[in-house]
Amino acid sequence: MEENRIKRRIVLVPVSAQGHVTPMMQLGKALHLKGFSITVFLTQYNRVSSSKDFSDFHFLIPQSLTESDLKNLGAVEFLMKLNQICESGFKQCLSQLLQEQGDDIACVVYDEYMFFSQDAAMEFQLPSVVFSTTSATAFVCRSVLAKVNAESFLIDMKDPETQDKVFPGLHPLRYKDLPISAFGPLESVIKLYSKAVNIRTASAVIINSASYLESSSLAWLQRELQVPVYPIGPLHIAASAPCSSLLEEDRSCIEWLDKQKPSSVVYISLGSLALMEIKDMLEMAWGLSNSNQPFLWVIRPGSIPGSEWTETLPEEFSKLISERGYIVKWAPQIEVLRHPAVGGFWSHCGWNSTLESIAEGVPMICKPFTGDQRVNARYIDSVWRIGVLLQGEMEKETVERAVKMLIVDEGVDMRKRANELKEKLEASVRSGGSSCSSLEHFINSL
Ligand code: UDP
Repeated sequence: MEENRIKRRIVLVPVSAQGHVTPMMQLGKALHLKGFSITVFLTQYNRVSSSKDFSDFHFLIPQSLTESDLKNLGAVEFLMKLNQICESGFKQCLSQLLQEQGDDIACVVYDEYMFFSQDAAMEFQLPSVVFSTTSATAFVCRSVLAKVNAESFLIDMKDPETQDKVFPGLHPLRYKDLPISAFGPLESVIKLYSKAVNIRTASAVIINSASYLESSSLAWLQRELQVPVYPIGPLHIAASAPCSSLLEEDRSCIEWLDKQKPSSVVYISLGSLALMEIKDMLEMAWGLSNSNQPFLWVIRPGSIPGSEWTETLPEEFSKLISERGYIVKWAPQIEVLRHPAVGGFWSHCGWNSTLESIAEGVPMICKPFTGDQRVNARYIDSVWRIGVLLQGEMEKETVERAVKMLIVDEGVDMRKRANELKEKLEASVRSGGSSCSSLEHFINSL
């Protein structure tokens, strides 16, 4: 069996954004460990393609493709255009791969948002498999939203009273938790979702989640999608987290953490895309400083509008930080979360960050910005009960209260629950666990 697998190749098609590349590369690693050769179709050169962690992988980067066509586009337009410009380059790559290497390609696994891959795979009579890098619940939301009537939905959304109501069929998600805002005009978001969840010829769906975390959403998908759904996550544990950072990690923060008391530090990171206004950053800095807890803050270059890094921040900010904080441009996040000094994670609640935090038993302060982050935040706060949800305007008093609640008042209970989840997740990827068996079933289906 293993010998057969060694000759077979799987082609991966990620979106070239951190939150999508990371789980796709972890999936590649997990499949490679099972004996498959891995080819990755990239739309641009990045650190991952030259990383020694992936030296066994084969990368396809078509010359004809230039992402400069995609500059200054909103998220929805970006993804729509990306699908348009990638299709022919991908077909050429597949054709070359089949001719030159005479390969036996087992399947094409594509990011849900790289939906052009479905037609390309069909043209070469290859099976295609969807990979969702978000939670199963967010996938359910997209499937439901893809079918709503945009006009009447928009009227509902504009009513402030409706905002707090539970959306029919999606308990406990309220209208305001749905993955729609700030992504673009509602009609185009719905159009994008209907493309992404339209599994016409795909033969299966892989999800980076575990049955224990999202059993009812997974059951919903299994029922509605009419193809097998394989929850095989968290992939960063299953594939022992090879480094797929697109930015350089600043490891000096680990030395700084070594000097802090156990479970005292708030780690702050808003992922690879979120932007933050200076006034909100100041409120945050004041609140953190007043809470008297040490904090490690990732401020990504370009994450403050109009500023390359932190040069436009007022002096007051530096003063507040210098008292008890440490700033880096990019951190080795999993190592940070695993550090005994870290007591809580202030997160934008991207799905990777959410899984990484749960897998280390670290409770969270949730400040979602857009898309599926609201869905994840709602689950962290009210389903798994391992976090505090920050709502409304950023104010220093609220920040101070949330930090105290996380680290001091309710920290012990939330950490206990987070540790229970951590154990379940670890069990799910061990031999005989649900995610491990799910991966085996997927492989046997190829
Ligand atoms: N990350 C990191 N260092 C940082 C901040 C983030 O390595 O300083 C990683 C994090 O571990 C996660 C990814 O970037 O794997 C962010 O993905 P997520 O889905 O949480 O959010 P997105 O960036 O897609 O909004």
